[in-house]
Amino acid sequence: MPAERVGGIPFGLGSTKPHNYWEVMRTAWENKRHPLFTWRILRDGVCDGCALGTTGMRDFTMKGIHLCTVRLNLLPLNTMGPLDTRVLEDVNALRSMSSKGLRALGRLPYPMLRRRGDPGFHRISWDDALGIAARRVRTSPPDRIAFFVTSRGMTNESYYVAGKVARFLGTNHIDNSSRPCHSPSTTGLKDTIGVAASTCSYADWIGSDLIVFFGSDVPNNQPVTTKYLYYAKKQGTKIAVVNPMREPGLERYWVPSVPNSALFGTRFADAFFPVHTGGDIAFINGVLKHMIERGWVDDAFVADHTTGFEALREVIEHESWEELERQSGLRRQAMFDFAEMYMRARTAVFVWSMGITHHRFGVDNVKAIVNLGLARGIVGRVQCGLMPIRGHSGVQGGSEMGANPKDFSLGFPVNDPNADRLQGIWGFRPPTAHGMTAVGMIDAAHAGGLDVLYMAGGNFLETLPEPEYVREALARVPLRIHQDIVLTSAMLVDPSYAVLLFPAQTRYEQRGGGTQTSTERRVYFSPEIPGRRIGEARAEWEIFMQLAERVRPEAAHQIHFEDGNAVRAEIAKAIPAYDGIENLREKGDAFQYGGPRLCEGGTFPMPDGRARFTVVSPPDAIIPDGQFLLSTRRGKQFNSMIQGEIDPLLGARRRDVLIGAEDAASLKLVEGDDVLVSNDLGSYRGQLRLAPIRPRNVQIYWPEGNVLIRRGIVDPACEMPDYNALVRIEPIPAPERSS
Ligand code: SF4
Repeated sequence: MPAERVGGIPFGLGSTKPHNYWEVMRTAWENKRHPLFTWRILRDGVCDGCALGTTGMRDFTMKGIHLCTVRLNLLPLNTMGPLDTRVLEDVNALRSMSSKGLRALGRLPYPMLRRRGDPGFHRISWDDALGIAARRVRTSPPDRIAFFVTSRGMTNESYYVAGKVARFLGTNHIDNSSRPCHSPSTTGLKDTIGVAASTCSYADWIGSDLIVFFGSDVPNNQPVTTKYLYYAKKQGTKIAVVNPMREPGLERYWVPSVPNSALFGTRFADAFFPVHTGGDIAFINGVLKHMIERGWVDDAFVADHTTGFEALREVIEHESWEELERQSGLRRQAMFDFAEMYMRARTAVFVWSMGITHHRFGVDNVKAIVNLGLARGIVGRVQCGLMPIRGHSGVQGGSEMGANPKDFSLGFPVNDPNADRLQGIWGFRPPTAHGMTAVGMIDAAHAGGLDVLYMAGGNFLETLPEPEYVREALARVPLRIHQDIVLTSAMLVDPSYAVLLFPAQTRYEQRGGGTQTSTERRVYFSPEIPGRRIGEARAEWEIFMQLAERVRPEAAHQIHFEDGNAVRAEIAKAIPAYDGIENLREKGDAFQYGGPRLCEGGTFPMPDGRARFTVVSPPDAIIPDGQFLLSTRRGKQFNSMIQGEIDPLLGARRRDVLIGAEDAASLKLVEGDDVLVSNDLGSYRGQLRLAPIRPRNVQIYWPEGNVLIRRGIVDPACEMPDYNALVRIEPIPAPERSS
């Protein structure tokens, strides 16, 4: 049997794994009402799932079908019918429903209004809805208005118009969901190598000598990457994983689109390095220490293309092995093994995700990865790169288009010269004070500092720490606008004056189509799909624009766009990296800004053309005796949208508390025991489940785990919340259990 095969049992029968073919059949059944519309979305649209990017069911990386269950599970959102608006007449009846249940009610078909004291919502016209919103915006100081734009299906056109509208109304308080995921990546990369996106393409994975996943579980979040990994392994690529959990999907997977793998499975990871949660910097510094001691650093690259290495060397040489071992959770031999593996690789790609970014020291984590990459010059070469892999289809474009409180757009931070430049394009000057991030908006709302909060998509109640605090904050905003395709629990929070629901179209319904940017910086055109439409739902960019026109009718010409082509034409002028977007008009049209690789030849867009090493010291992430370090994980879900009770990769249920066998034994507990996970913030009842996780580290599912995550603990460089917490675990006594 070939070494990479998992076993001889066909289709991994009996193994804990996703059942992809069964999912295909289930999805076909769920979408049976509109088979032709569903088929056209799959065949012609750009996937609205993760940020890997497709055109129809193809991509630019590999031949063959590109399709996964994440996309299939999202399809009903695009094909379902409208909800009966009478269900909204009493929100109390809806409060007991799960978010999944709320979504299943159907698409939002009409604008709806609920005033303070009303039991629920009633239907109003678009004219009235925009009129109510415009009056409140007009009478509010600009610094009391905020926008949050999230990414499921959101197009570049919508992000761009939202960013421009916020500035047209006088505020930079606009944020998007790429920041609560990857702001440490953009900040860390920009500071060190001068670019804020993946430096390479997915195609660089295939045939690279080494791929390292730091805090990233791509089989769960970007499933088609498993096909890329299959072909990479075929070409001899080694795979290493640095992660507290020995993720089963990275250990082995049955790739459904590759017959051989679908039948017998494929082993992926050659080596696991189970660091402590937050132990990455200590681990990387230990690896660098070995590399420095053995002369494995690429001295020529460091001398010719970088600065700051000597300062880093000096600090690392003085860091003790004992301390690096204590903080990383791994022995120096493991760091040596990694260093040796890396030294033997002529080419390497480092991939990371939210296991790296969701920390109060997320920027330092990213800078440590950059240090490691620069030490062997794996930037700007074929089959090499640094890749912060994105989770949502449209998210890469969010900040790049300008839905960002500190940047007008990609390459143009908020400042006077850039405001002058935009005035030349827009005909009005945007404000130059930095805006608030999502975290800042919720704090401002809680303190009574916001009059209008306009949320396009998303649900702060289910994504930010301390849900009760978020609920109070939302309730204190006089006017909340929720623009979405379906109902969310945040919409049901009582208003202090009014709540408006703006029904949005999906990207497939959007007039004239729209574009999306993938993780590898490829800008895809997704055409408008002919077929049924929902009530009076409108394209997201048009709603932003129409509100702005109502607020300032005298200047409406400065914010008006005739159609999607007009938006794209202006994006090309305002954001030079996106030059070419104006030519995207049909299915299959795409371009990759910056080309296959950024920083080619080791030339970095920094003032001196050199990349920068950064001295990053391990955070003192000590786990006190009797406590555990908790992190949150994703199961069968898309962002906070839970699609299934069971995590198909681990076989765990959503209320399970994942713990190593050694820790369970030390607590005198066994699998299946009911436990209380608690800290000084709150508590969570779950059931113990044994998992291959580093001792003293535990995981529960997100967003349920947010009750244990304290707000206000953020990375100071980018306000990324820390989604980890110290907790205690104790058994729930039997009488309490049954009550
Ligand atoms: S891997 Fe991502 S882009 Fe590809 S089909 Fe699945 S969700 Fe869509």
